[in-house]
Amino acid sequence: MKGLIFHGKRDIRYESLNDPGLEDDRDALVRAVACGICGSDLHLYHDDFAEIGEGFELGKGFCVGHEAVGEVVETGKGVANLKVGDTVMLAAMTGCGNCRPCLRGESKQCENGGWNVYGFGIGLGGCQAELIRVPAADYNAARLPEGVTVDQGILLTDNLSTAYGAALGAEIRPGRSVAVIGLGPIGLMAVELAMVMGASVVYAIDPVAERRQCAAEMGAVPVWADDVAAHLREETQGRMVDCIIEAVGGDRTMEAALSLVGVNGNISILGVNNSMNFRIPRQVFVNNATIRGNFVTEVHKHWPALVPMLQSGRLRPERFITERMPLSEGPEGYRKFDEREGGTLKAILYT
Ligand code: ZN
Ligand code: ZN
Repeated sequence: MKGLIFHGKRDIRYESLNDPGLEDDRDALVRAVACGICGSDLHLYHDDFAEIGEGFELGKGFCVGHEAVGEVVETGKGVANLKVGDTVMLAAMTGCGNCRPCLRGESKQCENGGWNVYGFGIGLGGCQAELIRVPAADYNAARLPEGVTVDQGILLTDNLSTAYGAALGAEIRPGRSVAVIGLGPIGLMAVELAMVMGASVVYAIDPVAERRQCAAEMGAVPVWADDVAAHLREETQGRMVDCIIEAVGGDRTMEAALSLVGVNGNISILGVNNSMNFRIPRQVFVNNATIRGNFVTEVHKHWPALVPMLQSGRLRPERFITERMPLSEGPEGYRKFDEREGGTLKAILYT
């Protein structure tokens, strides 16, 4: 089969690799229909994960990608709920499906060693490939729900769940004020969710004007200033913000997020920060604020809430898909996404 192989910093190639096969009775084999390029893939593209070390074999090259919708082409004897021909979406993060955390949808805490993510060279193949082996397929794959498109399915495999997990972490409730720092696809989905969840106001913060415009079209207040905290202090008459979502992961954006919180506020950090080299302002403690971090969201857990909102048209996150191209042009997709060429937000590759 063909797939996208990571060879090192900014070096992803469309190449041949061995077809995966079933390795366990509970496995299924899925032929990808579409797969997404994620911000986490860009961390990999920049080789930012080298310092994480364990299990990463950066020198060897491995197939990347962790967001896919595809068709089941083979099932192991132990797969009960899926059959050949089903169109399924794959949770980016896997679990065994049997232990207590998995049954709660919290596969990241899987007690049976089932936790994994596709496409990081740690035992599961990449999803930016023609064929994907899905472990514990009854749990880690779900039939694409009626009325949910392939593109929306891709967003359910990671980004939309991540944005929703962060919105819950920020304790967005009707009437609360919200700030989202970083308007990449997940940040913009967080803006959309905040509106749906009843925020009184959503401040959408990003240096890129097109991205702020995208948020403004959903009813958010676009914000960019040299000193965002000072700007919002004035804007809110000193109250600052109830719910803050950090969707970047940089040290400066972390500090900005922490500097915006008001009394009894919540800061929810979904951006992946590998340096942890940021300062927590004293005001966070004075304000009795809560900081919640989650670098990898529990994808499955949020499907029961998100699927109906997609089916009803209440959420339309597919509006953030700006690039659609064949898998063979994936290396170009990465380059565009990396350079934000033409305002690229979310890129989907089709096989
Ligand atoms: Zn992702
Ligand atoms: Zn488990």
